[in-house]
Amino acid sequence: MQKLADAGIETHFEKQLSEDEVLVKRLEMIPVECVVRNFAAGSLVRRLGLEEGQALTPPTYELFYKDDALGDPMVNESLAVSLGWATEAQLAKMEELTHQVNEVLKALFEAGDLILVDFKLEFGVFHDRIVLGDEFSPDGCRIWDKTTKKKLDKDRFRQSLGDVIEAYEEVANRIGVPLS
Ligand code: UDP
Repeated sequence: MQKLADAGIETHFEKQLSEDEVLVKRLEMIPVECVVRNFAAGSLVRRLGLEEGQALTPPTYELFYKDDALGDPMVNESLAVSLGWATEAQLAKMEELTHQVNEVLKALFEAGDLILVDFKLEFGVFHDRIVLGDEFSPDGCRIWDKTTKKKLDKDRFRQSLGDVIEAYEEVANRIGVPLS
């Protein structure tokens, strides 16, 4: 969040209160997940039968409705507007910010010899502004080693690949996030 704020992207993060507590702005969350993909993986591979790892140029952008009971189904801007979740202008801002976040984070991970494959962001409204909320961690993105393509994210858990904690620690170390 600090890196994103440094790049001019407003986030909910205010202050680290303790090792596991963060003070954030209270946003009115928009119930969609914004997903950017630099390489094909996960649900996109399943949906279109693509080869995992296929480069997506330019990066793709998708929206999913946040509803676990429905399995977070894919939606589009038209539905989000018609159902009153957000305005066209808010959705356009979310897309613009998501691509900006991608540029900042791609470079951050690249510096640690890591590939940012895809990720999910959530936004909310704070004083009429679209602000980035939620979190960014290997639980909500895909990160692969640049050389070996080893998966260093939640897919280690989903696919029973083992060494989940070690992988998350490796990501943190490589991008300079201090571990307690
Ligand atoms: N993602 C997430 N929460 C969700 C759904 C997806 O954080 O409820 C992240 C996921 O970790 C990946 C990206 O969004 O980095 C794209 O996910 P995808 O659509 O491929 O679905 P998945 O197969 O990961 O559920």
